[in-house]
Amino acid sequence: MTDSSSIVLTSHPLQRVGAFALLIVSGVDDASRTPETLTGEEIDVAVAAMTADLVSTAGLVDSRARGGFWLAASYMLWPNSAMNDSQRARRSVAERTERITGWRAYPQEPINPCVPCWLCGRPACGWYGKVDIPLGASIEHRNHTGPGHQGTPLCRACLVCLHAAPYGSLLARGRAVTLHSWDDEWLAATVRRQALRTRAAATARETEAPVHWQDHAVAELLATSRAPSSQLEVMVWSNSNRDQALVVHQLDESLARWWHGLTPERRQQLTDLLGPQTVINEVLFGGQRTVLRRITEQLHRQVDDPAVMDWPTVRALSSVGLEVGQAIP
Ligand SMILES: [Zn+2]
Repeated sequence: MTDSSSIVLTSHPLQRVGAFALLIVSGVDDASRTPETLTGEEIDVAVAAMTADLVSTAGLVDSRARGGFWLAASYMLWPNSAMNDSQRARRSVAERTERITGWRAYPQEPINPCVPCWLCGRPACGWYGKVDIPLGASIEHRNHTGPGHQGTPLCRACLVCLHAAPYGSLLARGRAVTLHSWDDEWLAATVRRQALRTRAAATARETEAPVHWQDHAVAELLATSRAPSSQLEVMVWSNSNRDQALVVHQLDESLARWWHGLTPERRQQLTDLLGPQTVINEVLFGGQRTVLRRITEQLHRQVDDPAVMDWPTVRALSSVGLEVGQAIP
Protein backbone atom coordinates (compact mmCIF):
# COMPACT_ATOMS: atom_id res chain seq x y z
CA MET A 1 0.00 0.00 0.00
CA THR A 2 1.49 3.33 -0.99
CA ASP A 3 0.37 6.74 0.10
CA SER A 4 0.85 9.85 -1.99
CA SER A 5 4.19 10.74 -0.37
CA SER A 6 5.93 7.36 -0.63
CA ILE A 7 8.40 6.41 -3.34
CA VAL A 8 7.15 4.17 -6.13
CA LEU A 9 9.22 2.70 -8.94
CA THR A 10 8.00 3.88 -12.33
CA SER A 11 8.97 3.05 -15.92
CA HIS A 12 11.48 5.95 -16.10
CA PRO A 13 15.08 4.67 -15.70
CA LEU A 14 16.39 7.88 -14.12
CA GLN A 15 13.48 7.97 -11.67
CA ARG A 16 14.25 4.35 -10.71
CA VAL A 17 17.97 5.04 -10.26
CA GLY A 18 17.10 8.10 -8.16
CA ALA A 19 14.71 6.03 -6.03
CA PHE A 20 17.48 3.55 -5.17
CA ALA A 21 20.00 6.36 -4.62
CA LEU A 22 17.66 7.83 -2.00
CA LEU A 23 18.35 4.79 0.19
CA ILE A 24 21.94 6.02 0.48
CA VAL A 25 21.29 9.77 0.49
CA SER A 26 18.77 9.32 3.31
CA GLY A 27 21.41 7.47 5.33
CA VAL A 28 19.31 4.28 5.49
CA ASP A 29 21.83 2.08 3.61
CA ASP A 30 20.14 -1.19 4.53
CA ALA A 31 20.27 -3.87 1.81
CA SER A 32 16.98 -5.35 3.04
CA ARG A 33 15.15 -2.08 2.40
CA THR A 34 13.61 -1.01 -0.92
CA PRO A 35 12.81 2.56 -2.01
CA GLU A 36 9.11 1.89 -1.40
CA THR A 37 9.79 1.33 2.31
CA LEU A 38 11.33 4.78 2.85
CA THR A 39 9.28 6.67 5.41
CA GLY A 40 8.28 10.31 5.04
CA GLU A 41 10.90 11.26 7.63
CA GLU A 42 13.63 9.36 5.77
CA ILE A 43 12.68 11.05 2.49
CA ASP A 44 12.84 14.40 4.29
CA VAL A 45 16.37 13.55 5.51
CA ALA A 46 17.40 12.79 1.91
CA VAL A 47 15.85 16.03 0.65
CA ALA A 48 17.64 18.03 3.33
CA ALA A 49 20.96 16.32 2.50
CA MET A 50 20.61 17.02 -1.23
CA THR A 51 19.70 20.66 -0.58
CA ALA A 52 22.65 21.01 1.82
CA ASP A 53 24.98 19.66 -0.87
CA LEU A 54 23.81 22.35 -3.29
CA VAL A 55 23.74 25.14 -0.70
CA SER A 56 27.35 24.31 0.18
CA THR A 57 28.32 25.74 -3.23
CA ALA A 58 26.75 29.16 -2.53
CA GLY A 59 29.94 30.62 -1.11
CA LEU A 60 32.19 29.49 -3.96
CA VAL A 61 33.61 31.91 -6.49
CA ASP A 62 33.06 29.45 -9.29
CA SER A 63 32.93 25.74 -10.06
CA ARG A 64 36.74 25.44 -10.12
CA ALA A 65 36.97 26.40 -6.45
CA ARG A 66 37.63 23.75 -3.86
CA GLY A 67 34.33 22.06 -3.04
CA GLY A 68 32.93 22.83 -6.47
CA PHE A 69 31.81 19.26 -7.26
CA TRP A 70 28.06 19.93 -7.36
CA LEU A 71 28.41 23.42 -8.87
CA ALA A 72 30.55 21.99 -11.70
CA ALA A 73 28.09 19.12 -12.20
CA SER A 74 25.11 21.50 -12.10
CA TYR A 75 25.94 22.98 -15.52
CA MET A 76 25.56 19.50 -16.97
CA LEU A 77 22.63 18.41 -14.79
CA TRP A 78 20.55 21.50 -14.04
CA PRO A 79 21.52 24.29 -16.49
CA ASN A 80 20.09 27.75 -15.72
CA SER A 81 18.90 26.54 -12.34
CA ALA A 82 18.87 28.64 -9.20
CA MET A 83 22.42 27.56 -8.37
CA ASN A 84 24.15 28.51 -11.64
CA ASP A 85 22.11 31.08 -13.58
CA SER A 86 23.87 33.82 -15.53
CA GLN A 87 23.51 36.34 -12.67
CA ARG A 88 25.18 34.09 -10.11
CA ALA A 89 28.42 36.09 -9.90
CA ARG A 90 26.51 39.26 -8.98
CA ARG A 91 24.51 37.69 -6.19
CA SER A 92 25.48 37.56 -2.52
CA VAL A 93 25.98 34.24 -0.76
CA ALA A 94 22.71 34.82 1.11
CA GLU A 95 20.84 35.41 -2.15
CA ARG A 96 22.33 32.31 -3.73
CA THR A 97 21.37 30.26 -0.66
CA GLU A 98 17.84 31.61 -0.72
CA ARG A 99 17.43 30.83 -4.40
CA ILE A 100 18.73 27.27 -4.04
CA THR A 101 16.54 26.50 -1.03
CA GLY A 102 13.57 28.07 -2.84
CA TRP A 103 14.18 25.87 -5.87
CA ARG A 104 14.41 22.76 -3.71
CA ALA A 105 11.40 23.61 -1.50
CA TYR A 106 9.09 20.85 -2.64
CA PRO A 107 5.38 21.70 -2.59
CA GLN A 108 3.60 19.51 -0.05
CA GLU A 109 0.11 19.81 -1.45
CA PRO A 110 -1.24 18.64 -4.82
CA ILE A 111 -2.03 21.33 -7.36
CA ASN A 112 -5.63 22.33 -7.78
CA PRO A 113 -7.35 21.26 -9.97
CA CYS A 114 -5.82 17.82 -9.51
CA VAL A 115 -3.53 16.61 -12.31
CA PRO A 116 -1.91 13.14 -12.34
CA CYS A 117 1.87 12.86 -12.02
CA TRP A 118 3.45 12.12 -15.41
CA LEU A 119 5.40 9.22 -13.92
CA CYS A 120 3.25 7.54 -11.26
CA GLY A 121 -0.28 8.86 -11.81
CA ARG A 122 -0.74 10.13 -8.26
CA PRO A 123 -1.72 13.80 -7.77
CA ALA A 124 1.03 16.12 -9.03
CA CYS A 125 2.40 18.88 -6.81
CA GLY A 126 3.54 21.17 -9.62
CA TRP A 127 4.60 21.65 -13.23
CA TYR A 128 8.23 21.04 -14.14
CA GLY A 129 10.61 21.41 -17.06
CA LYS A 130 14.12 20.61 -18.14
CA VAL A 131 15.77 22.06 -15.02
CA ASP A 132 14.19 19.33 -12.90
CA ILE A 133 13.61 16.62 -15.50
CA PRO A 134 16.91 15.71 -17.20
CA LEU A 135 16.48 15.41 -20.95
CA GLY A 136 12.83 16.24 -20.44
CA ALA A 137 12.74 18.38 -23.56
CA SER A 138 14.42 18.35 -26.91
CA ILE A 139 17.40 20.64 -27.42
CA GLU A 140 15.20 23.07 -29.37
CA HIS A 141 13.12 23.74 -26.28
CA ARG A 142 16.11 24.48 -24.05
CA ASN A 143 14.80 25.53 -20.65
CA HIS A 144 11.58 26.92 -21.97
CA THR A 145 8.13 25.46 -21.98
CA GLY A 146 6.09 25.94 -25.10
CA PRO A 147 3.41 28.64 -25.21
CA GLY A 148 0.21 27.41 -23.58
CA HIS A 149 2.00 24.60 -21.75
CA GLN A 150 2.68 24.75 -18.05
CA GLY A 151 5.28 22.00 -18.04
CA THR A 152 5.22 18.36 -16.98
CA PRO A 153 3.19 17.49 -13.87
CA LEU A 154 5.13 15.61 -11.19
CA CYS A 155 4.36 14.52 -7.65
CA ARG A 156 6.81 15.34 -4.88
CA ALA A 157 8.09 11.76 -4.56
CA CYS A 158 8.95 11.41 -8.26
CA LEU A 159 10.52 14.88 -8.34
CA VAL A 160 12.72 13.95 -5.36
CA CYS A 161 13.78 10.78 -7.22
CA LEU A 162 14.74 12.73 -10.36
CA HIS A 163 16.80 15.11 -8.22
CA ALA A 164 18.52 12.09 -6.61
CA ALA A 165 19.37 10.34 -9.91
CA PRO A 166 22.78 12.09 -10.26
CA TYR A 167 23.89 10.49 -6.97
CA GLY A 168 23.42 7.11 -8.64
CA SER A 169 25.40 8.18 -11.73
CA LEU A 170 29.09 8.54 -12.51
CA LEU A 171 29.64 12.27 -13.11
CA ALA A 172 32.84 12.81 -15.07
CA ARG A 173 34.15 14.13 -18.37
CA GLY A 174 31.12 16.39 -18.86
CA ARG A 175 28.79 13.40 -18.95
CA ALA A 176 26.63 11.48 -16.54
CA VAL A 177 26.94 7.72 -16.93
CA THR A 178 23.89 5.99 -15.49
CA LEU A 179 23.63 2.20 -15.36
CA HIS A 180 20.14 0.76 -15.39
CA SER A 181 18.49 -2.66 -15.44
CA TRP A 182 14.91 -3.76 -14.80
CA ASP A 183 16.39 -6.29 -12.35
CA ASP A 184 15.69 -4.32 -9.16
CA GLU A 185 18.00 -6.32 -6.92
CA TRP A 186 20.92 -5.83 -9.31
CA LEU A 187 20.12 -2.16 -9.74
CA ALA A 188 19.94 -1.65 -5.97
CA ALA A 189 23.46 -3.05 -5.49
CA THR A 190 24.93 -1.06 -8.38
CA VAL A 191 23.31 2.24 -7.44
CA ARG A 192 24.37 1.75 -3.83
CA ARG A 193 28.05 1.50 -4.83
CA GLN A 194 27.78 4.49 -7.15
CA ALA A 195 25.90 6.69 -4.67
CA LEU A 196 28.54 5.99 -2.01
CA ARG A 197 31.28 6.88 -4.54
CA THR A 198 29.51 10.04 -5.70
CA ARG A 199 29.08 11.26 -2.15
CA ALA A 200 32.69 10.43 -1.33
CA ALA A 201 33.91 12.29 -4.44
CA ALA A 202 31.80 15.33 -3.52
CA THR A 203 33.03 15.24 0.07
CA ALA A 204 36.63 14.80 -1.01
CA ARG A 205 36.03 17.89 -3.14
CA GLU A 206 37.25 16.14 -6.23
CA THR A 207 35.69 14.91 -9.38
CA GLU A 208 35.62 11.19 -9.99
CA ALA A 209 38.49 9.85 -12.05
CA PRO A 210 37.51 9.96 -15.70
CA VAL A 211 36.87 6.56 -17.21
CA HIS A 212 35.38 5.31 -20.43
CA TRP A 213 31.69 4.44 -20.07
CA GLN A 214 32.28 0.86 -21.27
CA ASP A 215 35.07 0.24 -18.74
CA HIS A 216 32.92 1.66 -15.98
CA ALA A 217 29.93 -0.48 -16.97
CA VAL A 218 31.89 -3.74 -17.24
CA ALA A 219 33.68 -3.04 -13.95
CA GLU A 220 30.29 -2.56 -12.33
CA LEU A 221 28.98 -5.75 -13.93
CA LEU A 222 31.90 -7.69 -12.45
CA ALA A 223 31.63 -5.96 -9.06
CA THR A 224 28.11 -7.30 -8.55
CA SER A 225 27.65 -10.87 -7.27
CA ARG A 226 25.68 -11.88 -10.36
CA ALA A 227 24.82 -10.54 -13.81
CA PRO A 228 21.48 -8.73 -14.14
CA SER A 229 18.55 -10.91 -15.18
CA SER A 230 17.53 -8.34 -17.76
CA GLN A 231 19.47 -6.23 -20.24
CA LEU A 232 22.02 -3.81 -18.79
CA GLU A 233 21.53 -0.29 -20.11
CA VAL A 234 24.18 2.40 -19.93
CA MET A 235 22.88 5.91 -20.41
CA VAL A 236 25.62 8.41 -21.28
CA TRP A 237 23.99 11.79 -21.07
CA SER A 238 24.17 15.50 -20.48
CA ASN A 239 21.36 17.94 -19.83
CA SER A 240 23.66 20.88 -20.62
CA ASN A 241 22.23 23.57 -22.88
CA ARG A 242 25.37 23.71 -24.95
CA ASP A 243 25.85 19.99 -25.28
CA GLN A 244 22.63 18.10 -24.60
CA ALA A 245 23.21 14.44 -25.31
CA LEU A 246 21.82 10.99 -24.66
CA VAL A 247 23.29 7.74 -25.94
CA VAL A 248 21.96 4.48 -24.54
CA HIS A 249 24.24 1.44 -24.83
CA GLN A 250 22.83 -2.00 -24.14
CA LEU A 251 24.57 -5.14 -22.97
CA ASP A 252 22.70 -8.27 -23.87
CA GLU A 253 21.66 -10.32 -20.84
CA SER A 254 23.25 -13.58 -22.05
CA LEU A 255 26.55 -11.90 -22.99
CA ALA A 256 26.62 -10.21 -19.58
CA ARG A 257 26.01 -13.58 -17.90
CA TRP A 258 28.74 -15.24 -19.99
CA TRP A 259 31.35 -12.56 -19.27
CA HIS A 260 30.42 -12.38 -15.60
CA GLY A 261 30.62 -16.18 -15.27
CA LEU A 262 34.22 -16.46 -16.55
CA THR A 263 37.10 -16.71 -14.12
CA PRO A 264 39.35 -13.63 -13.95
CA GLU A 265 42.13 -15.72 -15.55
CA ARG A 266 39.88 -16.73 -18.44
CA ARG A 267 38.74 -13.15 -18.97
CA GLN A 268 42.36 -12.03 -19.04
CA GLN A 269 43.18 -14.80 -21.52
CA LEU A 270 40.37 -13.67 -23.81
CA THR A 271 41.40 -10.04 -23.46
CA ASP A 272 44.93 -10.99 -24.47
CA LEU A 273 43.50 -12.69 -27.55
CA LEU A 274 40.95 -10.05 -28.46
CA GLY A 275 42.11 -6.92 -26.53
CA PRO A 276 42.75 -4.16 -25.65
CA GLN A 277 40.47 -4.08 -22.60
CA THR A 278 38.48 -0.97 -23.53
CA VAL A 279 37.88 -2.35 -27.03
CA ILE A 280 36.69 -5.68 -25.62
CA ASN A 281 34.39 -3.96 -23.18
CA GLU A 282 32.83 -1.99 -26.00
CA VAL A 283 32.66 -5.05 -28.26
CA LEU A 284 30.54 -6.79 -25.59
CA PHE A 285 27.99 -4.00 -25.93
CA GLY A 286 27.84 -4.64 -29.66
CA GLY A 287 26.17 -7.99 -29.05
CA GLN A 288 27.00 -11.54 -30.08
CA ARG A 289 27.60 -10.69 -33.73
CA THR A 290 30.13 -8.01 -32.84
CA VAL A 291 31.95 -10.38 -30.50
CA LEU A 292 32.06 -13.04 -33.23
CA ARG A 293 33.23 -10.46 -35.78
CA ARG A 294 36.05 -9.45 -33.45
CA ILE A 295 37.09 -13.09 -33.10
CA THR A 296 36.95 -13.54 -36.88
CA GLU A 297 39.04 -10.41 -37.44
CA GLN A 298 41.69 -11.66 -35.05
CA LEU A 299 41.62 -15.08 -36.73
CA HIS A 300 41.96 -13.46 -40.13
CA ARG A 301 44.98 -11.46 -38.95
CA GLN A 302 46.58 -14.70 -37.89
CA VAL A 303 46.00 -16.75 -41.02
CA ASP A 304 46.63 -13.84 -43.38
CA ASP A 305 50.18 -13.26 -42.31
CA PRO A 306 52.52 -16.28 -42.04
CA ALA A 307 54.95 -14.16 -40.02
CA VAL A 308 52.32 -13.58 -37.33
CA MET A 309 50.48 -16.87 -37.39
CA ASP A 310 50.71 -18.93 -34.28
CA TRP A 311 48.76 -22.21 -34.20
CA PRO A 312 47.97 -22.19 -30.45
CA THR A 313 46.50 -18.69 -30.89
CA VAL A 314 44.45 -19.80 -33.88
CA ARG A 315 43.15 -22.78 -31.93
CA ALA A 316 42.33 -20.58 -28.92
CA LEU A 317 40.48 -18.06 -31.09
CA SER A 318 38.40 -20.70 -32.81
CA SER A 319 37.50 -22.30 -29.48
CA VAL A 320 36.37 -18.88 -28.15
CA GLY A 321 34.17 -18.52 -31.24
CA LEU A 322 32.55 -21.87 -30.44
CA GLU A 323 32.19 -20.92 -26.78
CA VAL A 324 30.42 -17.65 -27.63
CA GLY A 325 28.17 -19.40 -30.12
CA GLN A 326 27.18 -21.98 -27.50
CA ALA A 327 26.91 -19.63 -24.53
CA ILE A 328 24.63 -17.16 -26.23
CA PRO A 329 21.39 -18.50 -27.66
ZN1 LIG B 1 4.83 10.63 -9.23
